[in-house]
Amino acid sequence: MRGLNLCLIIICMLFVFSGCGAKDSDLQMKDDKASEDASEDAGVYNLVDYSVVDGTVTTVSKATPGQSYIEDYKTFKKCEGYMFTVDLPENVSQDAIEYKDDYATKKLVITCPLETFDSNLMLEPKGILNYVSKFKCKQVDNSLKLTVTFAKTFCFHYCIKDNVLYVKYGSASKYYDRIVCIDFGHGGEDIGAMTYDGVYVEKNVVNGVMKHLVKEYTEQQQTFAFFTRTKDNNMSLRRRANLANDVGADVSISLHCNFYAYDWSVGGVETMYNLNDTNTPFNSEWLATKVQEKYCAAVNLSDRGILDGSDLAFLRGAKMPACLLEMGFISGWSDQETLFGDEGQLKIATTVKDVLEEAVDEIKREGDSNE
Ligand SMILES: [Zn+2]
Repeated sequence: MRGLNLCLIIICMLFVFSGCGAKDSDLQMKDDKASEDASEDAGVYNLVDYSVVDGTVTTVSKATPGQSYIEDYKTFKKCEGYMFTVDLPENVSQDAIEYKDDYATKKLVITCPLETFDSNLMLEPKGILNYVSKFKCKQVDNSLKLTVTFAKTFCFHYCIKDNVLYVKYGSASKYYDRIVCIDFGHGGEDIGAMTYDGVYVEKNVVNGVMKHLVKEYTEQQQTFAFFTRTKDNNMSLRRRANLANDVGADVSISLHCNFYAYDWSVGGVETMYNLNDTNTPFNSEWLATKVQEKYCAAVNLSDRGILDGSDLAFLRGAKMPACLLEMGFISGWSDQETLFGDEGQLKIATTVKDVLEEAVDEIKREGDSNE
């Protein structure tokens, strides 16, 4: 379409003058207030059908990461965490209840179907509502939808006994020994950088890598991964930056593509770190060095080194080793085959996962030797 072409040309020209690249202006804090509201419904859910409690796989129904349904009330009682209860309507089977842990927006949505419509029926959390900032219940079609908003990101355990739903919740670090946080840059209307012909955009490369990483992590039990998104949506930078701190991640990484407007032959990998992170021995520079080295070797793209990214919001506030990987140049001929193909994206995903695993291994080993 003519209008679209014109639009693409204008966007391309904008990139020529501004660039996306490592110093993404999207990574500054300033965008936040507006996009926060737009991302209210940005969701992270329905990824897996199992969860792990105390190192054992627990069979769950309608599960999402960080939550599990526990059949046995005795086992449930042993779980740590805060608790509230919800009185359920009569004759609701536990399989019919859906739990959606939208951890990125700190909302837990419990949906309970109703056989017969009763306009007086509502669900309400009862007990000491630690860190519950608000809750509301509304009837949608023939279901009751209870939305509980928390002040922090939690993981959840559920159990139903005698028509009462028990919900236990606690910080991720209570339930998981190894936690990583992965931020998938761009998404939704924020497309990031693009190729000169406008055919490939940064968010699509990130989405491709995301697909594989989500699968990789849900198929293993060793490390629990939080993602800033699992769909093609946009999330406010503040939420993206806060998630890793909120869940007490051991390491965190943000994935992007680089862009250079003036020379299509420019390609290669850069990793940004926070120069002001002076923790020892594990800090942002340590993680960036490791990521850069392993990634360049595995995906076979040229090594442009690690760079100071201390002005990037994602790195600035991180309380754990964090880095931002520019996976390659979307504008560079040399990098495009790796970035755009499914095979390349799979290789990128497995490499990122491997290097994060190695980083967590090292951190845990050090922790063990200090005990
Ligand atoms: Zn970017």
